[in-house]
Amino acid sequence: MTRTVYVNGDYLPETEATVSIFDRGFLMADGVYEVTSVLGGKLIDFEGHVVRLKRSLDALDMAEPCSRDDLLEIHRKLVELNGIDEGLVYLQVTRGSDGDRDFAFPAADTPPTLVLFTQNKPGLADSPAAKKGAKIISIEDIRWGRRDIKTVQLLYPSMGKMMAKKAGCDDAWMVEDGHVTEGTSNNAYFVKDGVIVTRPLSTEILHGITRKAVLRLASEAQLKIDERLFTIEEAQAADEAFTTSASAFVMPVVEIDGVSLGDGTPGPIARRLREIYLEESVRTAI
Ligand code: PMP
Repeated sequence: MTRTVYVNGDYLPETEATVSIFDRGFLMADGVYEVTSVLGGKLIDFEGHVVRLKRSLDALDMAEPCSRDDLLEIHRKLVELNGIDEGLVYLQVTRGSDGDRDFAFPAADTPPTLVLFTQNKPGLADSPAAKKGAKIISIEDIRWGRRDIKTVQLLYPSMGKMMAKKAGCDDAWMVEDGHVTEGTSNNAYFVKDGVIVTRPLSTEILHGITRKAVLRLASEAQLKIDERLFTIEEAQAADEAFTTSASAFVMPVVEIDGVSLGDGTPGPIARRLREIYLEESVRTAI
């Protein structure tokens, strides 16, 4: 089925949607994005994504392409037009184009480019990958210093996923100055003696929408949380580990750099958090 996508005010078949070759998203990775999950045809944590989008745009001095209500309407219309029950809505805003290439930003009144499309992912919630758990490798974190801005500059995370794939694993955790920053497209956690450990928020990691929700739910479930720096060796010696992201929710981690965690299957806290998170997300979806 040909998808219907959204580009700058129009709903079009994907084959007819176009963006200028001078668009700064294309030439300079001068753009930001959000990925919102859809379960049961409804949007998960939409408000969280809108707030973070605004934060990313503000950090880069980019104008908001439209209001929160317009964004909600576009999301909902694409979900409906494409018949998405379980899947994702991808949104990208770039600084647009003034019809040429220049390092300097174009005039402030240059309209941003707004593109949205859906990805159909049946079985997103009841994922076989989550039942198996992920195998992780560690790689050096060589990304830029403003990882809290959700830019489309994703080459290194892509390369990290390929390094993991080549090693027969599922994903990579990045390490800077001896400490884990985050996964290529998720936040990273381990659990030791009932305490959930994860890196505190800073400019060094993305402020995950799922991280915020999962830490709130964990604390409501009386689980202990310690936000601090940690090493790969600590995570390898943990009882269990997991990652969080809007597209994979809570994903158990069963192996880090060839070392099995616990009995090598998804741990009880990761499984419970996945369950609680999905329950709460579906209940509050809009
Ligand atoms: N860190 C990075 C580098 C990511 O790309 C993502 C996914 N967008 C996350 C963390 C998780 O963030 P969220 O829970 O908002 O999807």
